[in-house]
This record gives sequence, structure tokens and C-alpha cells, in this order.
Amino acid sequence: MKGTIIKGIGGFYYVYAEDGETYSCKAKGAFRKAKITPLVGDEVLITPVHGEEITGSIDEILPRRSSLIRPAIANVDLILVVFAARNPDPDLTLLDRFLIRMENEGVEAVIVINKSDLAEDSHIEDFRRIYGPAGYRVFSAAAKENLGTEEIKALIKGKKAAVAGPSGAGKSSLTNALLGGIHMETGELSEKIQRGKHTTRHAELIPLGDETFIFDTPGFSSADIPNIEKEELRDLYPDFVKLEPGCRFAMCMHENEPDCAVKAAVEEGTLDSGRYERYVSFYREIKSRIKY
Ligand code: GDP
Ligand code: ZN
Repeated sequence: MKGTIIKGIGGFYYVYAEDGETYSCKAKGAFRKAKITPLVGDEVLITPVHGEEITGSIDEILPRRSSLIRPAIANVDLILVVFAARNPDPDLTLLDRFLIRMENEGVEAVIVINKSDLAEDSHIEDFRRIYGPAGYRVFSAAAKENLGTEEIKALIKGKKAAVAGPSGAGKSSLTNALLGGIHMETGELSEKIQRGKHTTRHAELIPLGDETFIFDTPGFSSADIPNIEKEELRDLYPDFVKLEPGCRFAMCMHENEPDCAVKAAVEEGTLDSGRYERYVSFYREIKSRIKY
């Protein structure tokens, strides 16, 4: 039977199976031998053992579409990168770091600007102007007031979505809002998110029905520049990649080279200068890294 690992605790994996039941499973010794660790989000084949409890064993881990480390989760289809419009003011350096990381991991990201009740509409338009050229969709929400959440529910339908963003942006509030409408009857799920905020928690996957899942992942509030070569950074900017054929040099890093289409777009105002300047500072950051 097919299922999805929604939780892993002390060598047990909780598998939400296609029959709607959750089975507590042991992974076969073969995985340990092959040094494969099942991850929350893994799609697996299990053999159920109906006894006193709903138990089973994991026979096979199906091929992963994606996997992340810190948090260690598999098959993320979509990341909602949540920032508050205000309180705290959005740190675009951190937003860019999240986007770079997701590009590098090959996971689709959308930007959710929460606390829209605290900002003018023009504030959201700023984000669309800055991130639209890279192809990132920008959603506006006020999780606390359940505004904009229907659109996000529609967006994550049939997917496994994770919520990332700085502390205080409203990740928990948004997750609760997304759970709210779909999983009214349990209530227990949202409690799970509320409690233990300051204790060590493991990643969990919350099934919302219709093949839709939302990851409840602690520690998804920061992002470092991935361990890449400086030459690879430009490829993690979809907006720059589109312009690159117009640069004079094929290996243009869009830094000091003449006839650079990226710099020209900044001058014309079609590419945001802040976005470009942050790229240059990340580029220099990678360049100055000590190689071991
Ligand atoms: P997290 O740290 O990213 O999980 O953020 P929380 O969900 O804990 O929210 C941080 C604070 O922002 C809490 O006090 C929330 O009540 C508040 N908050 C969340 N969403 C909204 C919103 O849409 N509007 C406003 N004004 N406050 C919000
Ligand atoms: Zn260039």
C-alpha cells in the first residue's frame, strides 16, 4: 500500500496511507544497510500488519522529487516564503537568501507578504515590481484575519507545501489559517503547532486531504548562501538568466564587465537596483570565502 511519511519518532515512522489510516511503521533493515534514512515527506510502500494497533513496515521508498537538509524533508513541491509587510519590516537580504537557496535545491518558491492589514496596497506592488521579473508570484495575506488565505489554499492543492520565513512573519498563523477551513473537526492539529514553540520539535507533515499536505517544520526561519562557486550564483537568479544572452561576455558575472545586460536593465529601471546590489554583495561574500 502506498503512503506518505508524516512523522518520524524514535525509529518509528508514521505513514499516512491511501486508505486514510496512519500506520506506525518500522523501516526495513535494508535501508539502514544502504544508509538510506527515510524522511518526512517520503512517499513509501508499506505492508500493513493489522493487530492491536495499526502497524506496518516500510518496504520501499519511492523516488524523491526533492529533498532538503535543515529541515530534513522530502518531496517539497512548493515553498511559501512568508514575510510580514511590516512588524517586522521585511529584510530583503534574507528574502533573497531564501530564494537563492530554493533555486539551488530546485524547489518552487512563492512569496507571501503577510500582515497586509498593516501596509498600503502599494507596498505589495513593490514586491511584485522587484520579484516579478524573476517569475516569483507574490501573494498578499493577513493570516490573522483570514484574508488572502483561500487563494493560497488553492495554490497548495494537491501539493506538499512548506512554510519558510523569519520569526514573527506569521508562519504559524498562516499554517493555522490554511488548516482551519479544511480540518475544522480536529482542532488538535492547530494545537500541535501552537504548543512546544520553544522546545525541540521534529518536522511533521499534516495531511489536509486531496493529496494536499503542509509541512510543520521548525527551524525554517533563516537561510545561508549555499555552498556554491561564485560563478554559480548568477544562475540562481531567473531574472538575470533571462537577460544574460544580451551580455557581451558569455561568462559575465554582471559585476564589473562592460556591456552587461543586467546592469543595463538596472539603469533602465526594469530590474530593481536593490535586488542587483544584494546580488553583488552575495557574489563578493562567496568570493571571499576561505576554501578548505
Ligand atoms: P512566526 O514566528 O512566523 O510563526 O509568526 P506567528 O504566526 O507566531 O506570528 C507573529 C505575530 O504576528 C503574532 O503576534 C501574530 O498574532 C501576528 N500576526 C500574524 N499574522 C498577522 C496578520 O495577518 N496581521 C497582523 N497584524 N498580525 C499578524
Ligand atoms: Zn552581465
